[in-house]
Amino acid sequence: MNNFVVADPDKCIGCHTCEAACVVAHSGNRLFEQEESEIAFYPRLSVVETEAVTAPVQCRHCEDAPCANVCPNGSITNKDHSIIINQDTCIGCKTCMLVCPYGAIQMVTAYRDGQKQRQSGLRSNAAGVLSPKERIVAQKCDLCEESGNGPECVRVCPTNALQLIVPSQIEQSASRKRIASAQLLQPFGDLSGY
Ligand code: SF4
Ligand code: SF4
Repeated sequence: MNNFVVADPDKCIGCHTCEAACVVAHSGNRLFEQEESEIAFYPRLSVVETEAVTAPVQCRHCEDAPCANVCPNGSITNKDHSIIINQDTCIGCKTCMLVCPYGAIQMVTAYRDGQKQRQSGLRSNAAGVLSPKERIVAQKCDLCEESGNGPECVRVCPTNALQLIVPSQIEQSASRKRIASAQLLQPFGDLSGY
C-alpha cells in the first residue's frame, strides 16, 4: 500500500505555509539566490478555501492510479510506496491531469539547473517573433522523496493539520475499529435464540 499525506480541515487555518515549504523543498536550495521574477512558485499541494472548508489538497498516491493507467509514455510509475512522475520523459499531454479525481496534477514550466527548459522542435511566434517554446510537464506531490526527511509540508504546518499516513497506521486504525465494534456487541449477550 502507498503512503500519502492527508489534511485535517478542522485544524487548517489557511496560512499557506505548507505551499511555501513545498516550493522551498523542491528548489534545490537555489531559491534564495534567485530574483523574485525568476522563482518558479509551483507548490505540489494546493490550499483550497471555501466558505465551508479550508484545507490543502494533494496527490493521494492511489493504489490503482488513474494517471499512471492513462499516461501514453509510461512516465508515471509506482516507486517505494509512492506514485512518481518522470518529468524527463513527460511530453505534457495533460491526460493525467484530466483523469486525476483530486485535481492534484498541474502542468508547470520545466526547469533544469535553475533555467527554464526550451523545446528543441517547437517554436512559439508570440508577438510575431519566433522563439523556442518553453517545455511544460506534469507535476504533483512526490512525498519529498529525494530529501529523505519525509514530506516538508507535514513538518512545517503550525497547527499539525497534515499527517503522513503509512500502511501500518491504516492497519492499526482498522484493528482499533474492529476491537471497538466487537465491544459494542457485548451488551447484546447471548444471541443464540435469534
Ligand atoms: S501549513 Fe497547515 S494550517 Fe497552514 S495552510 Fe497548510 S495545512 Fe493549513
Ligand atoms: S502529461 Fe506527462 S505524465 Fe501526464 S499523461 Fe501526459 S506524458 Fe504522462
